[in-house]
Amino acid sequence: MARSVVINPPKMCQPMGAILAYMGVHGCVPLVHGSQGCSTYPRYNIARYFRESAEVAASSLGEDAAVYGGAKNLTEAIKNIKSRLNPAAIGICTTCMSETIGDDVKLIAKKALTDDTMKIFPASTPSYVGTHLTGYDNALRMLVETLDVKGKPNNKINIITGIINPGDIREIKNMLRLMNVQSIFLSDISETLDTPILPGGHKPVLPDGGTSLSDIADSANSLGTIAICRTAGSAATYLKNKFNVPSVLDAAPIGVINTDRFVQNICKLSGAPIPEEIIRERGRLIDSMVDVHHYMFGRKVVIFGDPDLVSAIVRFCAEAGMTPTVAMTATKQKDFAPDIKAVNSEYRTDTQILEGTDLYEFHEVVKTHGAELILGNSKGKDIADDEDVPLVRFGFPVYDRVGVYRYPIMGYNGSIYLLDQMTNAILGHKYDPNKLHQ
Ligand code: SF4
Repeated sequence: MARSVVINPPKMCQPMGAILAYMGVHGCVPLVHGSQGCSTYPRYNIARYFRESAEVAASSLGEDAAVYGGAKNLTEAIKNIKSRLNPAAIGICTTCMSETIGDDVKLIAKKALTDDTMKIFPASTPSYVGTHLTGYDNALRMLVETLDVKGKPNNKINIITGIINPGDIREIKNMLRLMNVQSIFLSDISETLDTPILPGGHKPVLPDGGTSLSDIADSANSLGTIAICRTAGSAATYLKNKFNVPSVLDAAPIGVINTDRFVQNICKLSGAPIPEEIIRERGRLIDSMVDVHHYMFGRKVVIFGDPDLVSAIVRFCAEAGMTPTVAMTATKQKDFAPDIKAVNSEYRTDTQILEGTDLYEFHEVVKTHGAELILGNSKGKDIADDEDVPLVRFGFPVYDRVGVYRYPIMGYNGSIYLLDQMTNAILGHKYDPNKLHQ
């Protein structure tokens, strides 16, 4: 029987994703045009995952705004941010309330600006459609659309990260460094949400790091754009359609084949050869898979999270000889089911595909298909406890463990780390011999 209620969905609303996109821009303050709770909830999630205080402003809409509109609040918010922080930019994201009111955010922001020393990105992020991934995509496209400047070719590759960890971004940067390829990251939270405390103990109010506005503008002059997460690919499509910047929307670089594809895409766009050190990293991943094959072969694994990460991990688990039984995502994405079906046909697995659903349904399907290991964020803890299997945490947010954001699961090195995490979780768990997963 169809349910008319959603139970424990592993997704968040659009402003959450938009804020993460804006936080990867140097000197940019995200501004939530909505009630205070709409900014408190993303800040809370950022603080408990990244352990960083996040500067997220709100226009603090109340009942009067629902009747008279939110122009007064938004104007005041922009002026307050300018006078208190004087940032390089403000990234506005709308909310359920401001979208329902119908505020013309672009016009209000234009009127509120008295000079052009600060940029404003007015993304529309209505939360009654889409998820945090839609919000990220909308905000990122707004960054590129607002700043695009056609100039001289820059010989760089744009990397659209999507919502991935600072550790992943650093690993991708490391691979590009080894390949001697220059890049522009759209956007880059590797320093802003994993901020070092430098000698003297000083931490600036707005963190150092993030992609500069001039680099975002320069993305129109790059050799090409690679979207690591296809859910964040509309900025790549925009750059392709408007500036003829080739775009590649491919699988996330997790595991052997997907990371090979990423490296090949970099080579194709840049003309760079594959350096010896990358070949050695790949070899170490293969070696690590061989090392643990007898522990991992045939192990039932179930995975939930954002679609690009889940489908890439499903493939990696199959490469490692495991048996993915259920793959679930709350955000519908057109490549998700074809990706999993391709793995099923290549590796003769029978992974059940769940799209646009919640963890209640995921749990019901897990009960019938069995699991010896769960991969997902902290919301999977109760299912792991009920099924008495370990949970390897990945994705956003992880709030019941520390430091997960620091470590990569992408690239050859990140895949080794993920495989080691999975293997150690299985080795460290005492399985109940009477349970279905056995
Ligand atoms: S779902 Fe709507 S009301 Fe709730 S936090 Fe998100 S934007 Fe605000």
